[in-house]
Amino acid sequence: MSAVAEYFKSLTLWELLKGMRLTGRYLFDRKVTVQYPEEKTPQSARFRGLHALRRYPNGEERCIACKLCEAVCPALAITIDSEPRDDGTRRTTAYQIDLTKCIFCGFCEESCPVDSIVETRFFEYHGENRGDLLMTKDKLLAHGDRMEAQIAADRAAEARYR
Ligand code: SF4
Ligand code: SF4
Repeated sequence: MSAVAEYFKSLTLWELLKGMRLTGRYLFDRKVTVQYPEEKTPQSARFRGLHALRRYPNGEERCIACKLCEAVCPALAITIDSEPRDDGTRRTTAYQIDLTKCIFCGFCEESCPVDSIVETRFFEYHGENRGDLLMTKDKLLAHGDRMEAQIAADRAAEARYR
């Protein structure tokens, strides 16, 4: 474009008018901004939020301390200690997930043979003190107990689509 045309365009504030036209178009469009936390966006049943350890309906922990999740975790965020019980089964004595390392990839959930460690849809959490983001076995089990109804419903819905 010639320098003369550029000069006349600058006199008519052409670029500004183009910008105002775009602004005007969106002024009357349907608004897409979500007023979080009062409003929430739809969430997938496969959402990967805060972890939980699940139990069987009789209250028994699902985890058999196979340590597959610990081995597969690319962020080395999982630490497990285990020992055999009197009945010969093996259970964890400690299970920790360091959320400051976790990248929420879901590999731990995928690797678990007994559907014990899962990532729930819960994402509204934070930490204020040292250790708040270290998910211990007790915290993970307690969170699993709170979320079990939704986890089970999501699993059932997923099975119907297979
Ligand atoms: S979601 Fe990924 S990074 Fe986080 S604990 Fe599981 S395997 Fe590790
Ligand atoms: S949570 Fe699952 S994969 Fe991890 S140790 Fe327990 S049984 Fe194994």
